[in-house]
Amino acid sequence: MEVIESIDQMQQSAELLRSAGNTIALVPTMGFLHPGHLELMRVGSKHADRLIISIFVNPTQFGPGEDFEEYPRDTPGDLEKARKAGADVAFMPRAEEMYKDMHQTKVMVEKLPKRLCGLSRPGHFDGVTTVVAKLFNITKPHLAVFGQKDYQQLAVISRMVMDLNMDIQIVGVPTVREADGLAMSSRNKYLSEAERASALCLKESLDTAQALVEAGEPDTAVIERRIKALILGYPFTDIDYIALCDPITLDPASTIQEETLLALAVRVGKTRLIDNCLLRRD
Ligand code: AMP
Repeated sequence: MEVIESIDQMQQSAELLRSAGNTIALVPTMGFLHPGHLELMRVGSKHADRLIISIFVNPTQFGPGEDFEEYPRDTPGDLEKARKAGADVAFMPRAEEMYKDMHQTKVMVEKLPKRLCGLSRPGHFDGVTTVVAKLFNITKPHLAVFGQKDYQQLAVISRMVMDLNMDIQIVGVPTVREADGLAMSSRNKYLSEAERASALCLKESLDTAQALVEAGEPDTAVIERRIKALILGYPFTDIDYIALCDPITLDPASTIQEETLLALAVRVGKTRLIDNCLLRRD
């Protein structure tokens, strides 16, 4: 596996791969790799001849007071995991090269970022779309793989690709979970043992909501109230949002549709966790 830090060098390598007739899959990550990331890599490898992963803790998608400085990092461990997962290139740019002094261009999707996480993380998705657009231009992929765990991110990036006619296929991968149901996340590392136990309220909420829908509950307000009580019944929890909404527009839904997105953001202690599922009527 080749490790590349320079943008020029990455663009040249991608060009060489393309001109030799290879298709390229990109898996963008912020590192501290876990089995969720490795599943994205497996899917990327399956769909393309060459796999590029990027490891970049992108400063512009963190707001003031968020965890940019503390975000867990483990470069040697990540490189070993990526190599074992069959990545051909690990692209690890430096922030100073990604955002040079005169950098003043942003890629912004208009409406989707105003929902869900966008309400408590203003500017977050502008940081995401800008860095992902840059990574696409640097690594020149035919397809890029993202996790459904970050449902809104996947929706925003898919919108950007459609709206800007980027010739890149976006592939979404189902959330990979721990044995007890907790969605894998680099941020789970922040949880104390007691908080880790409380973090199970997210998956339990998704399962409870699905059971209510299957039992015929049509009213999203009823489901929201049940979940709220469930989450607040656990210690250390503080709800950022419980959203039942249209899976495409992310507009709030007052009644359960054929498919309704349930998305949650819950603080457990100081750690903000997200999870989601598509609720389906039978
Ligand atoms: P991150 O390093 O957290 O920015 O995540 C990089 C990519 O991995 C994103 O596309 C995430 O949606 C995806 N990802 C993170 N956690 C999981 C998970 N538990 N299951 C599937 N994909 C995930």
